[in-house]
Amino acid sequence: MPTPESILKETFGYDSFRPLQREIIEHVLARRDALAILPTGGGKSLCYQVPALIFPGLTIVVSPLIALMKDQVEQLRAAGVPALFLNSTLSPEEYGANMRAVRQGEVKLLYMAPETLVTARIESLLSGLSVDCLTIDEAHCISEWGHDFRPEYREIAAFRERFPNAACLALTATATVRVREDIKRALKLAAQREFIASFDRENLFIEVQPKTETKAQLLEFLSRFPGESGIIYGFSRKRVDELSAFLASRGHAVRPYHAGLEDEARRKNQEAFIRDDAQVMVATIAFGMGINKPDVRFVVHVDLPKSLENYYQEIGRAGRDGLPAHCLLLYTYGDVAKIRHFIDQKTGDEKQVAAKHLEAMVRFAEDTASCRRKPLLAYFGEAYEKADCGRCDHCAGGAQEPVDITVPAQKFLSCVVRTGGRFGAFHVTEVLLGSRSEKVLKWGHEKLSTWGIGAEYDKKQWMELSQELVRLGLLTQEGEYRILVPTPKAQEVLRERTPLFGRLPGAARPASARSRTRSGAPKGGEPLPDFDPGLFDLLRKKRKSFAEAASVPPYVIFSDRSLMEMAGRLPRSPEAFLRVHGVGQVKAEKYGQAFLSMIHAWCQENGRA
Ligand code: ADP
Ligand code: ZN
Repeated sequence: MPTPESILKETFGYDSFRPLQREIIEHVLARRDALAILPTGGGKSLCYQVPALIFPGLTIVVSPLIALMKDQVEQLRAAGVPALFLNSTLSPEEYGANMRAVRQGEVKLLYMAPETLVTARIESLLSGLSVDCLTIDEAHCISEWGHDFRPEYREIAAFRERFPNAACLALTATATVRVREDIKRALKLAAQREFIASFDRENLFIEVQPKTETKAQLLEFLSRFPGESGIIYGFSRKRVDELSAFLASRGHAVRPYHAGLEDEARRKNQEAFIRDDAQVMVATIAFGMGINKPDVRFVVHVDLPKSLENYYQEIGRAGRDGLPAHCLLLYTYGDVAKIRHFIDQKTGDEKQVAAKHLEAMVRFAEDTASCRRKPLLAYFGEAYEKADCGRCDHCAGGAQEPVDITVPAQKFLSCVVRTGGRFGAFHVTEVLLGSRSEKVLKWGHEKLSTWGIGAEYDKKQWMELSQELVRLGLLTQEGEYRILVPTPKAQEVLRERTPLFGRLPGAARPASARSRTRSGAPKGGEPLPDFDPGLFDLLRKKRKSFAEAASVPPYVIFSDRSLMEMAGRLPRSPEAFLRVHGVGQVKAEKYGQAFLSMIHAWCQENGRA
C-alpha cells in the first residue's frame, strides 16, 4: 500500500513535503473537504496528485486554463502518472481515445475545463465510474469578488452534488476573506477546513532601485543572469515593444508579450520562453496567468505596478522551484503621476480603491529602512516577525556596518541648498555629475560650485545616497515632485562639519542563483548543491534534446534543481541517480542511462573518475 511519503519519493523524486502539503493530503485522503490557500510555488498540485495515486477511483481536476492543463498533464505523464485532459484543443479522435481510457479505468487524474464538466457526454462517461476527489484549481474564479471571475465556475456546484462521496479540494493562491467565504458557500464545502500557508516566499530576493536609466540598468542586471530565464514587466505595449527591441539589439534572446499582438504571435512567444528558446520575456501584465515555468530566476518591474497585489502576483512567478530568484523594481516618482492620471479618469468607489492601492504601493517603494517583506505581507494580513529576512535590499544592506559618508553627504546636501531646495533627487544628481541637460542649463546650474563635483558615484549611487539622507532625517521629500528640502539637522551637518555615518550606496548586489551556489548556500529557499557549471550546461543541452524529441518544455524532463544536483553529486550508478532531487522511478528508467553516461564521460575527461 503506497503512502504519501513513498509516492512523493518514488513518483516525484522529492524528499520532503512543503508546508501544509502533508496535512492537506491527509485531510483529503480522509475524504473531507478543504479550502487550501498556498502562495504561487507553494506546491498546490501535489496536494491532490498524491491522494489521486492512493485513491482507488478517479480524481477530477477543474482548471480554467487550457495551457495549464496541458502543462500539468505533460509533467505527470513524464513522471509515469496516468493523467489526461479533455478540452476543445483535442481532435475528435484524441477526445474519443481519452474518453475510452477514462471509461476503462486507466486514468487516475482527469483534467477538465468547467464548461466541459457539465456536458451530457461527461455525465454519461462518469456515471459508471467512482470519483474520489474533485479538485477545483484557481478556486477564486468562482467568486464575483475575485479578480478573475469565470461564470462557468458556478456550474461546479451542481456537478458536485452528483458525487457526494468525493472529497472536494478547492485551491487558490489569492483569496480575500470575502472570496474565501464565497468559495465555501458556492461549493457547499462540507465539514471543511481551511489551510492557509504563509505568503512569504523565502527564496525571493526583493530589491527596489531608483529608476535612473532603465536601459543601462537592465543591461547591467541581465549581465548577472547569463542564460537564465526571467520576465521584465513594463507599463504599456509601446514600452514593451521598445524595450524588447532594444534588448534584442544588444544580443539578448528576448520576446515581447502584450494584448496588442496577434494570438498566434503571443502563443509563439510564450512557447519560446517556456521552451528556453528565449531567455527573457518582456511583457505587460497580460503575461503570466497560466505560466507554470518553475525556473524563472528573475522578475524585473521597469515601471511601477498599480497595487501591491499585482506586484506580489507578478514577482510570485519567479522561483517556483524553491531556488533563489531575484525581484527588482525600478522606481521613480514620475510613474506615480502617470498612474494617478489613469485613476483620475475613474469615478466613485473605484477611484478611491485604486488610489488607496497606489498609495500602498508607493509607500512600499519609498520605504527606506524596514524589511521589504513587512509591508508586503502586512498587505495580505500577515505579520512578518523576523527582524532581518536577509533576502531583501534593506536587510542584506542593513547587515552591512554603517560607514563614514560625511564627504558625499556634504556634497549632496550643499548641492540641494545651492539649487535652492526646489528640486528632486534626480536634478540634484545631474548637477553633481556635471550634466549639461536642458533643465540644468535653463536654471544656470552649470555655474554652481557643486556642478560636476560628484564623479565618485554614478547616478544610481547618488540617488541611493539621497534616500539614505532622507532616512537619516537630513532631507525631507515634499509634494508631488518629491522636492528635497534640507532639515535643520542638515544645516547643522553642513555648518559644523559633523561626521556622518550611514550605508554606502551600491552595497551588496546578489548575483544569480548559479553563481551564488559556488560561494555557499544562500539564505532562504531550499539548500542548493555546489556544482560544476560546465557539466550543468552539458546536461541542459541533453535535457533540451529530450524535450524537443518529446515536444514538451525542458522542465518537464528535469528541473534545473535536478540538473544542478547531477552536476554536483556526480551520480555514477542507477541507485545514486534515483537519489537526485526530482528523479522518480519512471524518469530514472527513461533518462538515467543517457544522463549517467554523460556524467561518466565528463568525469573521465576531467580526471574525476
Ligand atoms: P503552485 O501551483 O502552488 O504554484 P506547483 O504545484 O506548481 O505550485 O509547484 C511548484 C514547483 O514546486 C513544481 O515544480 C513542483 O514540482 C515543486 N514542488 C512541489 N512540492 C514539492 C516538494 N514537496 N518538494 C520539492 N519540490 C516540490
Ligand atoms: Zn528584509
